[in-house]
Amino acid sequence: MPAASLSPEVLAKYEPVIGLEVHVQLLTASKAFCGCANHFGSAPNTNICPVCLGLPGALPVLNARAVEFATLASLAINCQVRERSIFARKNYFYPDLPKGYQISQFDKPIAEHGYIDVPTADGGIKRIGITRLHMEEDAGKSIHDGFSDSATRTYLDLNRCGTPLVEIVSEPDLRTPDEAFEYLTRLKEILLYTAVSDCNMEEGSLRCDANVSVRVKGAERFGTKVEVKNVNSFRFVRLAIEYEIERQIEVIEAGGSIRQESRLWNAAEGRTYSMRSKEQAHDYRYFPEPDLPPLVLTPEFLEQRRAELPELPEARRARMIAEFDLAPKDAFTLTASREFADRFEAAARTARSPRRVANLLLSEVGGRLNALGLDQDQSPVSMAGIVLAADLLDQDKISSKQLKQLFDICFEKGEDFPAVYDREKPQQITDSSALEAMIDQVIAANPKQVEQYRAGKTSLVGFFVGQVMRASKGQANPALLNELVTRKLEG
Ligand SMILES: [Zn+2]
Repeated sequence: MPAASLSPEVLAKYEPVIGLEVHVQLLTASKAFCGCANHFGSAPNTNICPVCLGLPGALPVLNARAVEFATLASLAINCQVRERSIFARKNYFYPDLPKGYQISQFDKPIAEHGYIDVPTADGGIKRIGITRLHMEEDAGKSIHDGFSDSATRTYLDLNRCGTPLVEIVSEPDLRTPDEAFEYLTRLKEILLYTAVSDCNMEEGSLRCDANVSVRVKGAERFGTKVEVKNVNSFRFVRLAIEYEIERQIEVIEAGGSIRQESRLWNAAEGRTYSMRSKEQAHDYRYFPEPDLPPLVLTPEFLEQRRAELPELPEARRARMIAEFDLAPKDAFTLTASREFADRFEAAARTARSPRRVANLLLSEVGGRLNALGLDQDQSPVSMAGIVLAADLLDQDKISSKQLKQLFDICFEKGEDFPAVYDREKPQQITDSSALEAMIDQVIAANPKQVEQYRAGKTSLVGFFVGQVMRASKGQANPALLNELVTRKLEG
């Protein structure tokens, strides 16, 4: 097994080079070249017709919506869209591909030369090139298990045949498993914002292959690359790349050489297995698809797609940080989905302090949801409830301790914040004399801290405020308390 035997010094001698190929199913109502429903989960072999089965004489007709989505995705990842692209046949035999070829694009894809910017661990930005985005159709599915006779038979579900896909190929610009993970996260986020795909990895709407090689640092040429196929979560992509880097370094350190091959990730064992070597690899004999004319996109078509582009996550984060005074880390969480960002923004605009809404949403509510293993949309506390809580805090009408208690009740009883607040109406001590009595007690009990404070350590005011707040069971009015504590200590 690799990893364990490699010292950090050995690992540091090498530089990994990673490129990613991502297949994305487009969210059109019908398939790429016929009118069959493009729908996951239908009964097997019900959404099929002569065109997607490739029966003799059937002719493909290109789905205009698929072209719109592919163009939108291309623009969102900063690609140059080709005015004229060509569909090509990619020939190979496989039981789940009854046509014997896939309609794809080869040397003239719809889009090229794009990039996305990916945040790095040190807080910077790294630009990752995108070689191309091309359109193609999906194949059907071979089902190897789940049937009583699965040991001896394979079943075929051809519903997926002809599902519109785009394949997005990155430049070999990625250098670490973490960068690859970040790239995929940002790419998926962009695709979700443009709403061209649901990017559901469990259902196979987004699939990822990783090309991994290593070279001695400073070397000009890339090492021999290995393709890790069909990894079904971003976490596994990171693990598979990590494994593959270490495996390759170990082979080279032992005096061996890397075979160019495809490997499969086995999540249960946490390792990759050789699938086929390049010698056995397909020669796809690409040639232009004779049944489809070149795809020509007019300037007007491109203008319309450009106009449809939503504000993309990166731009949105930058604007929200500026507009709402958010911490960058919070901005990432808030913009993770367009829908969540929309809800937050709509709520934040009605609040006295949007930053406080973000804080409560992510820490108080988010923390409780995390602890219970719930999603945001399962939260008992609505956005409006969070706004009310934030405003009450902002106006010193409740203390943060009282707020925590109210949120606890919300989560215990599954009730929204406004209802709980109305019923519980936590009392605040705004009577100066009552607070002064408590402050006097705390001051009398902590002569050492009083001495330090009066010697100049004024930050200790927080200590006294905290003590009195605790004595008041969180009911002291924070602003009044602060003022009185300072006055007493000074006096
Ligand atoms: Zn069909």
